[in-house]
Amino acid sequence: MKYVSTRGSAPVLTFEDAMLSGLARDGGLYVPETIPTMSADDIRALHGLSYEETAFRVMRPFVGDSFSDETFGDLISKAYAGFGHGARAPLVQLAPGHFLLELFHGPTLAFKDFAMQLIGQLFQEALTRRGERVTIVGATSGDTGSAAIEAFKGLDAVDVFILFPHGRVSEVQRRQMTTPSESNVHAIALDGHFDDCQARLKDMFNHFDFRDEVRLAGVNSINWARVLAQVVYYFSSAVSLGAPDRKVSFTVPTGNFGDIFAGYIAKKMGLPIDRLVVATNQNDILHRCLSTGGYVTDTVTPSISPSMDIQVSSNFERALFDAYGRDGNAVAQLMDELKNGGGFNVSQGALQSLREHFDSGRVSEEETLATIAMANQSMGELLCPHSAIGVKVAEDQRNSDTPMITLATAHPAKFPEAVEKASGIRPDLPERMADLFDREERVTRAANDLTALETLIKDRIAS
Ligand SMILES: *Cc1c(COP(=O)(O)O)cnc(C)c1O
Repeated sequence: MKYVSTRGSAPVLTFEDAMLSGLARDGGLYVPETIPTMSADDIRALHGLSYEETAFRVMRPFVGDSFSDETFGDLISKAYAGFGHGARAPLVQLAPGHFLLELFHGPTLAFKDFAMQLIGQLFQEALTRRGERVTIVGATSGDTGSAAIEAFKGLDAVDVFILFPHGRVSEVQRRQMTTPSESNVHAIALDGHFDDCQARLKDMFNHFDFRDEVRLAGVNSINWARVLAQVVYYFSSAVSLGAPDRKVSFTVPTGNFGDIFAGYIAKKMGLPIDRLVVATNQNDILHRCLSTGGYVTDTVTPSISPSMDIQVSSNFERALFDAYGRDGNAVAQLMDELKNGGGFNVSQGALQSLREHFDSGRVSEEETLATIAMANQSMGELLCPHSAIGVKVAEDQRNSDTPMITLATAHPAKFPEAVEKASGIRPDLPERMADLFDREERVTRAANDLTALETLIKDRIAS
């Protein structure tokens, strides 16, 4: 199994090398050269399997020779052992034909744990075998950072630096990043937005001297291994509703397009998915692009769903690569226009191809609050604001022929203020993290400046 860059001019890599390097050296994102498929019988055979067994069968063909069957199976088991629910990703019913996929039973209460816990195990195994050490730098709007710190803390083959926008993450999110005491984890509060964090991270990857000196590795949602881990729950949930013999649709609260892109991969592998619906908050570049063809950045407006407060949606590049017939030059050109002019227009042909798979909807702050209240009263479910955005778009767009599965991306207790404002209920943290507010915080404030950040990182790993 080989991986190629969406911009067409970086070395072709194995699964392990694509995972360890994150971003390709031409600035692109790694994607599999070909997508392995599962037959209807292969999918039928997933009925009744555990989440871990399903994960093994769905992901195995993508991994190639990088890990043996036995090792890969063991790492999957370790990755999900710390989850607070035996089903890992349980499906609950909200209404006739509408289901909620609860992806918030991991150690940091957001779906990011599904990918990050696995990638922590895969990194540790690969680096130990190679006798190497890397520096992981990640940018986060809140949930990626805590999931990464939780997954990598205490591992001796890695240092982890997480850049988060100062003052723009929830208190639970911040504390999950700043309270782990292991010396290999470093939480950095950057003066800026999430897009600034993401931009500085990209700058570091494109600064090859620094990249090579610190052995930079990335675990942001652009890392292919993360997308892959997220493909699994599309299979497990669709199978529990009757796939491959019944089609399902998914609505996905979307920011960086990573989670919903995993659904697209599941569909390409042969899972009968009807619609993939992108649900955005008021930061709606994806909804605007799918509606008009214009991908134009705007200023970020902070919302009550901060994990979706972005204007550059990194993984969308992977969808564009396919929509442009896997033409790396065409994608590189679009990304130049984005960098230099703040936007681009998707060609008619590519837009048509995107619309064959994706629908979209945008939800205002008021609608988000109203949906939290509605779901609490008439669906028996307390939703986090991100999940509420999904439920709202799903309710607007679903039809009675095809069951709709909405992804619940975080636990309501991660965003207690918004949930309380909408529903009058202040959700409690699960027992296992009830002491979060008593733990000591450790954080470094930093300016939005590449050189200063690089110096900080070099100093820390030297000490
Ligand atoms: C990261 C995140 C999202 C957005 O996921 P993408 O893969 O970036 O589209 C949505 N909701 C929550 C709670 C998140 O943490």
